[in-house]
Amino acid sequence: MYAVADIDVDVCGSTKCRLCTQFCPESNTIQFDNARNSAYVSVDRCKGCEICVGVCDDLAKHHAIKMVPINEVQSGFELRLVGFKQSIAGLH
Ligand code: SF4
Ligand code: SF4
Repeated sequence: MYAVADIDVDVCGSTKCRLCTQFCPESNTIQFDNARNSAYVSVDRCKGCEICVGVCDDLAKHHAIKMVPINEVQSGFELRLVGFKQSIAGLH
């Protein structure tokens, strides 16, 4: 089963550190949303490299990201629409 990064928005939102967004090798994949006060992952772009997990665990020390099978994503699927500025949250 393909695994993608999933963020605990309660833990992340209490920190606002944004560190993971600077290390993901895939553009526009893990970003910080000020409106929802949390980082989020566009699962259609995540390649499952786990770099963000190491950043959140070892550098930020917040432990807010886990790799999960794509069908078990808790924070909701986030798809980025090329050519549109909006994203779609909550698609399952
Ligand atoms: S590194 Fe962790 S706590 Fe910091 S923004 Fe990313 S998910 Fe949130
Ligand atoms: S697992 Fe890799 S590709 Fe996916 S969000 Fe984290 S750093 Fe980016």
